[in-house]
Amino acid sequence: MDGSLAPLLESLEAQLGRALGSCVTRFRLIEPGDRVMVCVSGGKDSYTLLTLLERLRRRAPFQFELLAVHLDQGQPGYDGTRLQAWLERQSVPFRILREDTYSVVVSKVPEDKTYCSLCSRLRRGVLYNAAQELGCSKIALGHHRDDAVETLLLNLIYTGALASMPPKLVSKDKRNVVIRPLLFAREASIARYAELMAFPILPCDLCGSQPQLKRKQVKTLLSELERIAPQARESMLAAMANVKAAHLFDADLSARLGLEGALDESDGEVSPFSGPPRAEAPGRRLPLLR
Ligand code: SF4
Repeated sequence: MDGSLAPLLESLEAQLGRALGSCVTRFRLIEPGDRVMVCVSGGKDSYTLLTLLERLRRRAPFQFELLAVHLDQGQPGYDGTRLQAWLERQSVPFRILREDTYSVVVSKVPEDKTYCSLCSRLRRGVLYNAAQELGCSKIALGHHRDDAVETLLLNLIYTGALASMPPKLVSKDKRNVVIRPLLFAREASIARYAELMAFPILPCDLCGSQPQLKRKQVKTLLSELERIAPQARESMLAAMANVKAAHLFDADLSARLGLEGALDESDGEVSPFSGPPRAEAPGRRLPLLR
C-alpha cells in the first residue's frame, strides 16, 4: 500500500472499530467465555468483521474466542486458495467446510429465478449445524448499516412487514444466537477499508445467479432519497431503534405492550422537531460512520 494512505487506513479502522465496539457493547453481543464463529464468505464485509473482531478481542476486558469458518458451496470455478492463505496468516483459528449446496440450488430453482433465497437458506443450515458441532455460542455475520436499511425497505415494499436485521437474533429452534457486530458501520467505509487492506475478495457471482434486482433497485432508490434527504439511511437506521408502537397499528404488538386504547394528543405524525431523528434520544446516539 502507498505509505501516504496509512493515516487514512488508520482512521478508517478506528471509525469502524468504534462502530463495531459500540454495537457489541450496546446489545451485549459478546459475553465472557463466548466462542464466536465468524462466518467468512470471502467478501469485503466478512474480512472486515474478522479483522475488527480480532482487534477487539485482543483488548477486551474479558476473554472470548473467535473461530473463522468459511463454507465452500461447490460453485463452479471456486478457488479458495488466496482466502485460505490469508486465513493462515491471521492469528484466528479457522475451519474450511465443504458442502455442495450449489448443485442442490441449481436442481431446484428454475433458470429464470434467482438462486439467492434457497442458497442462503442452505448455507444458513450448514453454518448453524457447524456452530453446534464446533461448540460455538454465537455466530457472527458481516451485515452492515446499508444491508439493514435495504432490508427494511424491501420488507416495507414487497412483504408488508416492518422488519429488518436485528443485531442479535436467537434462531427459531433456539440452538443458535446470530450476531451482527457491523450493523452501525457504513458499507462505503467497509469497502474503502477492504480495498486499503487488500483483502483477497472472492467473487460473489460464481454461482451464476441472476443479480438480486430488487435489492439493487432499493439501493438506487436509497441513493435517490439521499439526494433529497442526505441523512436518509442514517435516519432509517435510527428509526429501527426508535419505534413508536403507539403510532402503528399492529394489534398483537399493541396488546403485548398494553397500548390498546392509549391516548395521545398528536395525530401520529412524528415532528422533525420533537427529537433528534438521526439518532436516539440524547445520550443514546448511534455512533454512525461518516
Ligand atoms: S449470489 Fe450466489 S452465492 Fe450469493 S447468495 Fe446468491 S446464489 Fe448464493
